[in-house]
Amino acid sequence: MPDSRFLDRAGRRLSVNDNRDAALFMSDILNLPGLDVIETREDAHDYLIRVGRRRALDACPYCAGGPMVANGTKTQGLRDTPVHGKRVLIEWSRQRFLCRGCGRTSYDQHEAFDPDRRMTKRLVEYIGRTALRLTFTEVAAGVGVDEKTVRLVWSDWSEREIGRLEFATPRWLGIDEVHLIGKARGVFANVEARTALDITADRSQKTVATWLTKLPAKETVEIVTMDMWRPYYDAVRALLPRAVVVIDKWHVQKMANEALEGVRKALRADLPPARRRRLMHDRFVLLTRRRDLRMDQQIVLEAWTNEFPLLKAAYEAKEDFFGIWEIPSMTSGDAREAYRSWAERLPAELRPGFGALTTAVGNWSAPIWAYFDVPGGPTNAYVEALNGLVKVLNRMGRGYSIEVLRAKVLLAHGASKIGPMPKGKLLRDWQGDLTPPAFLRRPALERPLKGAGNTVEFITTLKALPPAPDVHFGIDLSTLARLIEEDAI
Ligand SMILES: [Zn+2]
Repeated sequence: MPDSRFLDRAGRRLSVNDNRDAALFMSDILNLPGLDVIETREDAHDYLIRVGRRRALDACPYCAGGPMVANGTKTQGLRDTPVHGKRVLIEWSRQRFLCRGCGRTSYDQHEAFDPDRRMTKRLVEYIGRTALRLTFTEVAAGVGVDEKTVRLVWSDWSEREIGRLEFATPRWLGIDEVHLIGKARGVFANVEARTALDITADRSQKTVATWLTKLPAKETVEIVTMDMWRPYYDAVRALLPRAVVVIDKWHVQKMANEALEGVRKALRADLPPARRRRLMHDRFVLLTRRRDLRMDQQIVLEAWTNEFPLLKAAYEAKEDFFGIWEIPSMTSGDAREAYRSWAERLPAELRPGFGALTTAVGNWSAPIWAYFDVPGGPTNAYVEALNGLVKVLNRMGRGYSIEVLRAKVLLAHGASKIGPMPKGKLLRDWQGDLTPPAFLRRPALERPLKGAGNTVEFITTLKALPPAPDVHFGIDLSTLARLIEEDAI
């Protein structure tokens, strides 16, 4: 059946390339062995390629018997990948066969075509990849199918591709909340490798539990960092009972800043409008650590805190609270003690303002102070890499669904981090949120090797070990952010 797009306004067919050379040329272009190009036509936007083939079918697909006899043809339109920027419609004059044994009819099959869709398998692949860069509507226009078809094809394709990924289970799992396209999402990450493992559409306990249930080699996870979000915590406790849960210090320290902000806002009621605006403007000085203030900012700080003793007390309380994380060689026990002392010193009139903080620290005590028992702690580099990625994702995320954004992240091949599994363990023999073993309380680095007597022997032993197989650690956060910035993904 001729495609109406190949007829001009008077109903005449447009340029027909039906000579042998053109047919051979197109046959080569299609590169579908076994199919004979009968005719090709083209206009400014489309190629129509009529193909057929003559072949005998040996056995019946239903009864495996026969004999099979040719029994007419059926013309079928199938979409293929664009050629020279033009959409391609293949018209296949498909041979029908009748089985003399069972009386059923069957059609010629060709491995190039998707069994479930009226398109080639390579078009399915093309739609999958292209929809990571263009909107579904753009892809639909480019290949000549409707948007709904693109959506369905892409959805199946991405599910299959993501299902094929095999990321190494991290020793240190980060579960973070990020705001992407208007909603709080969950991000699962390998903190040590600084890679993304997945993005979830929401951050419900069910979603986290489902994700953790599918995680292979769960016993590999030794540390889980998260913010103070009960659904995460409950899911992790249930499914990774041996992992140590650590609340990232940023989430805890942030609450001291929020308390200070509360005190500032309460003061402004008594101020004339101009002074109120001034204080609003100067709030960044209050939120900055004292050691990071420039001289002029220190003067601003002093002016405000001298005028309002409560603001001064709140500022000092904030600084002291941050300071808990800066005392060298602290254990969780020391930190707990430092906090207790901080809370006792907190002036009575500040207690309501710092109430959210003290309640949270009370509720999350073990995972907050466990921070001090984990060697290293989550690094700034990790947090910055994650925030950097979220920033670029949000910038380019407009117009995409979270599903596409997730696939864009996970299927970004250029950002895959692949290498050998790091040796050793973060926390050997750790049994949960109990008192940590003594060796964990100090950094284990630069401890002399016991019994390392003969260097030559040591090196020989190392060489004899088989190389560790490479594993896929996930998608490198910084590389991915850079590739997106460069519009390379
Ligand atoms: Zn049969």
